[in-house]
Amino acid sequence: MMRCRYCGKDTVTGSFCCEGCRKSFEAIEERMQRQGRLFLLCIVASVIVPMAIMFIMDPDSFIALPLMLIFLGLTVVVFPFCTPETVESFSLRTSVKIGRGLGAVMVVIGLALLPFCADAF
Ligand SMILES: [Zn+2]
Repeated sequence: MMRCRYCGKDTVTGSFCCEGCRKSFEAIEERMQRQGRLFLLCIVASVIVPMAIMFIMDPDSFIALPLMLIFLGLTVVVFPFCTPETVESFSLRTSVKIGRGLGAVMVVIGLALLPFCADAF
């Protein structure tokens, strides 16, 4: 018995339970290959931009920390690309959901911390 690589349902027909799942899986995989570099760029920017803002606004504050959380969270929500390990243990659809959920949690925590770290605003 195999499991569908997209939705995780048991399947006897191969790697996918239906044509729709195969198409969805390939679409995400293709997007990962196409946008992988953009994703990395966003991660790097999510670290550098908050640091730059902190140094310009108020080098003594911790404003970079919540900003990084928000930027990184947004990046993960937009590009819910997961490691192959996560996809192996869950299905791709579950991995994408977990990735988006974690990204959203990061944004919420970042927004909650923002007022405490931003005396300058
Ligand atoms: Zn499926």
